Amino acid sequence: MIKSYKRNCILCGSDQADKIFNFTFNFITKVRKQDPKDLKEKFGWDEESNNWIVKCNKCDCTYVNEILKGNVLDIEYETEIYKDSVEEEFKKFFTKENLKKQINTQKYNESILRNILNNLKKKDKIKLLDYGSGQAEFSLLKEQFNIDEITSYDPRYPNNTTEIFNKCGVNSKAANNLKEILSEKFDIIICQSVIEHVTDPSYEISCMKKMLNENGIIYINNPYMNIEKDLKNLLTVKEITKKDHISCYHISHVNYMMPNIFIKLCKKNDLQLINFWQTYSTASKTNNFFQVLKINFNSFIHFILNSFGIYYKKQHFFFKLDKI
Ligand SMILES: [Zn+2]
Repeated sequence: MIKSYKRNCILCGSDQADKIFNFTFNFITKVRKQDPKDLKEKFGWDEESNNWIVKCNKCDCTYVNEILKGNVLDIEYETEIYKDSVEEEFKKFFTKENLKKQINTQKYNESILRNILNNLKKKDKIKLLDYGSGQAEFSLLKEQFNIDEITSYDPRYPNNTTEIFNKCGVNSKAANNLKEILSEKFDIIICQSVIEHVTDPSYEISCMKKMLNENGIIYINNPYMNIEKDLKNLLTVKEITKKDHISCYHISHVNYMMPNIFIKLCKKNDLQLINFWQTYSTASKTNNFFQVLKINFNSFIHFILNSFGIYYKKQHFFFKLDKI
C-alpha cells in the first residue's frame, strides 16, 4: 500500500534542492502526537519512514519532495474506502448543535464571501464553486447571499455524496470528479485549506483558472509558513499543540510556499492578484472585539504593503484572470 510520490520543484520543475527539515516517525508521533496506528495504516509509514521539506536551489520554493501519504494521497483517490466515514462526518457536522458551535468559522466564511462579492461585477445568477469543499461549509451561505448555484467539489467524496447531501440537507451540488465539472464556468471559486495539501498545486490552479468566468474571482488561502524562521523552533520543540504557531507543520501539508512564491505560481497560471482592503467581521477562532479590530487593522496594512509589491505574511489571495 505504501503510496509515495516523488516531486520536482512545484514552481519551476527543478530537481535541485537543499534539505531543510525532516519529518521523522518520532517527530510525528511524539512531538505532533499523531496516532502511530493511523500513521501506519492510513499513511503507510513505518518507524524508518521520513520525509523532507526541501528548498529549491533555483527559485527558493519550499516543499516536500517525496510525499508519503498512503491511502490519503490525492492521486487516484480510492473514494469508496471512506464512504461510511464521510457520511458520518456530514451527519455530525450538519446538526443544529454543531452548526451553532461553528458560528465563528461561519462568520469568517461570510467575510470571505462578502469580500469577493464586493469586488465582483456580476450581481445576480451567481455560480459558486467550492474547490476542495470538505464539509461543504459554503453551502450554508447560499440563501443569505442569494447565490444561484453552489458546487461542492472534493475528490475525497464517495460516489453517493449527492445522496448524503440530500439526507443531511446540504444545499449544494456534490462533485468528486474534476473531469465532470471542468467544462463548466463559475463566477466565484473558493479554495480554502487546500493548496498546502495537494500534490500538484499548479495543476489545481490551472483547473480553477479554466473554470473561471471572464469577470470571475478566485479566492485561495495559502497559510503563512516561514520554514526558515521556524526551523530552530521545530528542531528543539518537545511537544506541539494546536495553539502553537508551528502547528501548521505536519505531514498532511506538503507545500510550504511563501507568499511571493505562491503569487509567482498563480501568475504562471495567468491569474492576477486583486488588491483591496479586506474586511472581516470575526477573527477565525473568536469573536473578540479586539481580535477583530486587529485583523482588520492588519489587513489594512497588508493592503498598503501589497500596493508596493510587498507581501509580508500574506495569507488571503483574491485573483482575477490576467488579460494578456
Ligand atoms: Zn524551483
